Amino acid sequence: MRIGVLGTGAVGQALATRLVALGHDVMMGTRDAANPKAAAWATAAGGPGPASAGTFADAVHHGEVVINATAGTASLAALQAAGGAEALSGKVLVDVANPLDFARGAPPTLAVANTDSLGEQIQRAFPGARVVKTLNTVNANVMVHPEKVPGGHTVFVAGDDPAARQTVIELLRELGWLNGDILDLGGIQAARGMEMYLPLWLSMTAAQETPMFNIRVARA
Ligand code: NAP
Repeated sequence: MRIGVLGTGAVGQALATRLVALGHDVMMGTRDAANPKAAAWATAAGGPGPASAGTFADAVHHGEVVINATAGTASLAALQAAGGAEALSGKVLVDVANPLDFARGAPPTLAVANTDSLGEQIQRAFPGARVVKTLNTVNANVMVHPEKVPGGHTVFVAGDDPAARQTVIELLRELGWLNGDILDLGGIQAARGMEMYLPLWLSMTAAQETPMFNIRVARA
């Protein structure tokens, strides 16, 4: 599948690398087509065919599926720069970003919460995009290698388009997430809770001195 990954950070790099290894044709998008991190990634990952680099707009154009792995407070601007509503129309847009605001230092606050979420803001701003929130509740390495955390543990999925959610669930299975560990929460409004979990995730990371963990939803 042709996949556009918007983001050159730890998440963009981890997802892009793993998706190429799984046989997908991935373009990493960035603000600047000459971004050295994106170019270095593309070379290391095999070069054009499986791995290429371009602007945010190039990556959206490339992808049947597009992954938003940009800083949450910049995601709306990045998606606008990527071509906005017209370019994103019809695309499955996988949103893994968190609206963390570091303006007042650490710990970060949530730039949006309670009655709204970044996932919903993205869906409203780009109504033709088929936004699916997922993977934002785990570290980048856990996203792409869930087996590194022993035992079953949960990943959440939310989005208004059931077919888009199914496409994303299939991608999650490819990454190694097990059927029973993928919890489909339904519509994009569930992104609120997925994002508001982040303060607890940050506290757990500090308390355990590692981001290599996850939670499991246990059911009777
Ligand atoms: P990050 O440092 O949060 O974001 C890097 C990306 O954001 C870069 O591609 C950068 O563009 C883009 N960006 C930054 N400011 C921008 C602006 N003003 N306008 C447009 N684009 C801008 O990287 P990350 O740590 O990989 O995280 C990516 C997202 O995943 C974040 O939303 C984060 O909260 C979420 N997340 C992270 C983890 C994790 O393990 N790190 C886990 C779960 C979720 P350039 O490439 O042009 O510099």
